[in-house]
Amino acid sequence: METHILSKSTFMRGLQCTKSLMLYKLKPELKDEISEKQQEVFSRGTDIGMLARELFPGGVDASPETSYQYQESVILTKSLIDKGEKVIYEATFQHEKVMCALDILVKDKDGWKGYEVKSGTGVHEVYFTDCSLQNYIITESGIDLVDFFIVNINNQYIRSGDIDIHSLFNIESIFSRVNEKRGFIQNEIVRLKNVVETGIIPEIDIGEHCNVPYQCDFSGHCWSHIPDDSVFDVSNLKSPKKFELYGKGIILIKDIPDDYPLSSKQRIQINSHINNTSVIDKEKIQDFVQGIHYPIYFLDFETFNPALPLFDGSRPYQQITFQYSLHYKKSKKSRLKHYEFLGEPGKDPRKEFIIRLIKDLWGNGDILVYNKSFESGRLKELARDFPEYSLELENIILRIKDLMIPFQNKWYYTPDMKGSYSIKAVLPILVPDLSYNNLSISNGGMAMNAYEELQYIQNTRKTKRIIRHLLAYCKMDTLGMVRIFEVLEGDRQVEII
Ligand code: SF4
Repeated sequence: METHILSKSTFMRGLQCTKSLMLYKLKPELKDEISEKQQEVFSRGTDIGMLARELFPGGVDASPETSYQYQESVILTKSLIDKGEKVIYEATFQHEKVMCALDILVKDKDGWKGYEVKSGTGVHEVYFTDCSLQNYIITESGIDLVDFFIVNINNQYIRSGDIDIHSLFNIESIFSRVNEKRGFIQNEIVRLKNVVETGIIPEIDIGEHCNVPYQCDFSGHCWSHIPDDSVFDVSNLKSPKKFELYGKGIILIKDIPDDYPLSSKQRIQINSHINNTSVIDKEKIQDFVQGIHYPIYFLDFETFNPALPLFDGSRPYQQITFQYSLHYKKSKKSRLKHYEFLGEPGKDPRKEFIIRLIKDLWGNGDILVYNKSFESGRLKELARDFPEYSLELENIILRIKDLMIPFQNKWYYTPDMKGSYSIKAVLPILVPDLSYNNLSISNGGMAMNAYEELQYIQNTRKTKRIIRHLLAYCKMDTLGMVRIFEVLEGDRQVEII
C-alpha cells in the first residue's frame, strides 16, 4: 500500500497554516520542544482514550506498533472488518493518500458507528472539522457509517464509589454536522495535497492563526524576529490590536504612537518602559494598607485537578485543594508564625484541609491572599461539597482581602514587571533577596503535577522528597506576601529606579 500524504493531524495543521504543514514535512527539527504541560495534556488524552474503550468492551486494537506502521493498521483494520469484528479500537483507514485513525468503530444492529474520544468537557468547533475528515475518509473507504459521535467528559459527573464510565462520559451524535462538511473536506484535501506536492515551505508571516485553534509548535522558529519588549508584551492588549500594530511595522513598545488608543494601565506600562521609571502611587497604596487590619493571616492554596475524579464527591477536572501555607502576624511588630497543611497522598485531602484551615484561621483578623478570586472560589466549592462546614467557610471568605490589588491597578509598577502583576513578577522586584529560583518546585503547575504524582508512587524516599519540595514552594508564596506587604507598609525599603 502506498504511504499517505496527509494524516488527520497534518490535515488539521495545514488548515491552520500551510507553512506549519510544510515545516513539519520538511524541517521537523525546527519544532519547539514539548513542554511539561503539553506532555501532560497528551498523556491525559491517551489515558482518557483507553478508559473510553471500556464503553465498548471486548474490541480488537488496530493501533500500529510505531508511528511509521500506519499502513499495517489500515490492512489490519480491513481484515478485522472482513472477519466480522464488531468493535475495533484505533480503526485506521486510508483514501486518496489521506490516512486517519478513529478511536472506536462499532457495528451494532443499525450498522457501523464511529466514536471519537476527546479528553475535554466541551465540544469545540475544531472537533467538528477533524471528525468530518474521519467521517469522510471512513465512508469513502467503503464503510457505510450510520452515525458519528463525540465522546467527551461529563463535568457534572460526581464520583460515588468506583468510576461509572457510563456517567463519566457524554456521548453526542454529530453526524449531521460532519456530513455538512463533506464538500469542505473534499476541497481542502485537494488544496493541502497540492501544497505538499510543491515541496516548498510557503512564505507566511506570523498572525493570529499562530494561536488559533492551537498554539503552533513552530512558534520558536517563526517568531524569532520578535524581540523582548515588543507590542506582543503589552498587558491585556487584544490580539487583533497587537497584529494591527505589527502590520504597520510597529514592533517595539517604544514605537507605539502616543495617540494609539490604549487603557490607562497599558499607558503606565508603556511610559514606564520608555522612560525607565517606576510608578508608585503612595496615596493609593497607603489607603490600601490602612484597609488591612492586624492580626493578618497570609494565606495561599495549592490545588490539582485530575481529569478522572479520584475521590468520592468530586467531579472531573475539579480543583481539589490539597495544601495551604499560612503566615500569621499578630501585630506589625510581632514575630511571624507559620502554619501549613499538605494532604496525605492517596486520601481525599479536602475534609482535613477544611478542619485544619478553620482551626489555623481562628480569630477575626484579615486574611490576605494574592488573587482573591482563586482562594474564594475554592472555599465556595468546599462549602458546597462539605455543607457541614459552610458557615465557617463563608465567614473565612468574608475576611479575605487581595494583596494583588495595588499591582493589578498599577499603583505600584516598575519596568521590570513587564506588564505582569503576578506574584512571580512582583516578588523579585520588591523583595530581591527572596527567590523561587532555588526551589525544585517553582510554580503552581509544577506543584499540581507533583501532587498528582504522589497519588501513584510507592517509593517512600521520592514521596518524602516531593513533600519537602511542595512545602517549601507554598511557604515561599506566603512568606513572599508577608515581605511584599512590609514593603507596601513602608517598613522595608526597595531600591526603585
Ligand atoms: S508559527 Fe505561525 S506562521 Fe509559523 S508555521 Fe506556525 S502558524 Fe504558521
